[in-house]
Amino acid sequence: MKIGIDAGGTLIKVVTETNNKRTFKKWLTTQIDQVAEWLNHIDKADISITGGKAQYLDSIIKHNVKRSIEFEATYTGIQILLKEHDIHLDTYIFSNVGTGTSIHYATAQNQERAGGTGAGGGMIQGLGYLLTQISDYEELVQTAINGDRDKIDLKVKHIYKGDKTPISGDLTAANFGHVLQNIHDDFPNADRLAALMGIVGETVTTVSIHAAKQFKTENVVYIGSSFVNNDLLRNIVVDYTILRGLNPYFIENGEFSGALGSIYC
Ligand code: ADP
Repeated sequence: MKIGIDAGGTLIKVVTETNNKRTFKKWLTTQIDQVAEWLNHIDKADISITGGKAQYLDSIIKHNVKRSIEFEATYTGIQILLKEHDIHLDTYIFSNVGTGTSIHYATAQNQERAGGTGAGGGMIQGLGYLLTQISDYEELVQTAINGDRDKIDLKVKHIYKGDKTPISGDLTAANFGHVLQNIHDDFPNADRLAALMGIVGETVTTVSIHAAKQFKTENVVYIGSSFVNNDLLRNIVVDYTILRGLNPYFIENGEFSGALGSIYC
């Protein structure tokens, strides 16, 4: 049995491979001791670990493990998943929207880091809590689905008020920039969270697009657990990437790329 683990800031992703059968499992990073207990009950396995909490996990399990570099493991995992899904890209940007967002340029041979942003899944959870007092992730993303950003986000067309706009009027001019003009209205949690998904999705996409232009590629592969059960964020990212003339890709189980890749690099 082969076990690949990506112990991240928020979630621990585990990929298990036995006789060509692959399984995927996630734990909260706060449950790291339970993951260790599970591993310590396994007699024999080839275990590889990557991610920010790899050192700690390694220190509390009985097995000798292989440690791999997170960015290399993620790249290796993405390459495997792309191939398995018959997606053939010579060059691409991959944006790993985890607790934070890390952005990389990839070719068929290797990857290099192109940048990042602190806007990501951690911001969704933290700022989401400050705005609504909701700490449960599922509740947060479900509440956002029915939200309306119109009273919160200032669009280009709001500024131009019917005049001809120099860029699409539907583009966001200022995230959260419409609030004071609607100060006497209510701002339901759904609207606040939809606007939060907006700022995270648009920031992640903007940084990814800049990296794509810098490295002269047209493809952006988005991975990370922040997209899990969060179609709103996914749709914002897809629409905005397409609007800017690039090709967005999401791969099934993409958030397990690091865990999978750690087995093979
Ligand atoms: P990391 O490797 O930094 O832990 P992930 O790619 O696993 O990053 O993404 C973490 C983000 O995924 C969280 O910040 C949150 O937005 C989102 N997420 C998805 N599912 C859950 C969950 N069940 N509990 C908490 N956060 C979740």
